[in-house]
Amino acid sequence: MSVDQPPRAEVVIDLDAVRHNLGLLSARAAASGAATMAVVKADGYGHGAVPVAGAAVEAGATWLGACSLGEALDLRRAGITARLLSWLDTPDVDFTAGIAEDVDISVSSAGELARVVAAADRAGERARVHLKIDTGLARNGCPPHSWPALVKAAAAEPGLDVVAVWSHLACADEPGHPSIDLQARRFADAYRVARDAGLDPMRHLANSAATLTRPDLHFDLVRTGIAMYGLNPVPQPEDLRPAMTLRSSVVLTKRIETGESVSYGHTWTAARDTTVALVPVGYGDGVPRTLSGRMSVWLGGKRRPVVGRVCMDQIVVDCGDDEPAVGSEVVLFGAGTRGEPTAREWADTLGTIDYEIVTGMYRPRVRRRYTGEGGR
Ligand SMILES: *Cc1c(COP(=O)(O)O)cnc(C)c1O
Repeated sequence: MSVDQPPRAEVVIDLDAVRHNLGLLSARAAASGAATMAVVKADGYGHGAVPVAGAAVEAGATWLGACSLGEALDLRRAGITARLLSWLDTPDVDFTAGIAEDVDISVSSAGELARVVAAADRAGERARVHLKIDTGLARNGCPPHSWPALVKAAAAEPGLDVVAVWSHLACADEPGHPSIDLQARRFADAYRVARDAGLDPMRHLANSAATLTRPDLHFDLVRTGIAMYGLNPVPQPEDLRPAMTLRSSVVLTKRIETGESVSYGHTWTAARDTTVALVPVGYGDGVPRTLSGRMSVWLGGKRRPVVGRVCMDQIVVDCGDDEPAVGSEVVLFGAGTRGEPTAREWADTLGTIDYEIVTGMYRPRVRRRYTGEGGR
């Protein structure tokens, strides 16, 4: 994409919304004495890790969570001084730079522990590690049967500080799910093993859903992702503001007659004479083709259906007898406060979750723009 051309479509990120949401979450955490980690993995769930991290820190986050060491180092190199945790690295990753740049590293196995110890040696600095126990997600984390040996090995390493014991919940977005209490009990057991080994680590377990619904599981730190972006993972309403809007504009309108069909495959035929508007955004910009015939947009103060197939570069909107001006704003999804569609609606239509919709919105052809001044 040529940088000096106006964008055909843009994702607008409202950093005031991020600050509002993180402020709400960190106030809940603080009420239980816990600090807040803003999770900015996958380029901030598609919102841009560095700007979101900056806004989150301004609003009270003292930690940032990254999936990989590369993501964490990108934040550090952008000048972010908050505590950073990286939790899922591949076996070929060298932790030396991470240790030198004060990134905390998650460890789930004896092999990972050995690699961190060797890297601390090379860096000539102590490594800060968070030992991860698998309490029932059966994904990352040390299984309970290997936990006592891992804790013992970590406690015996002079080059390490065991900063935390931590875990991740499988079903926190279904409040009352029996797995939550089961995981909490296993977490308590794992913590006791660490204490018995002479360690005095922090504890962290809660994601956004548990931050909102389980103050008893906040411990020392909560790790909030989706709710910071304004998408609510729990059934009860919360005062969260979706931060991302996907917008484009009308480039052409035309009158078509009854019986004329629109877009590839002629899957939609006008049942009356109507005006259609062409919008230059398509699956090349992150609009799933499987939304063909199942989506609407906000245009000229109302919802209007997208008709015919979603193409690579364009969609067509049925405007009836209205004639929107060329250049009119078209909102594909946003906060929903004006009546526009939301990421949640797309997700519900597609049979997925809003996490996937926003995270998938990082596209080279779509410009990202930031709004909001916050406390600055
Ligand atoms: C992604 C992630 C989170 C954040 O989860 P949300 O549901 O987005 O709040 C917390 N902890 C870990 C380990 C994660 O991978």
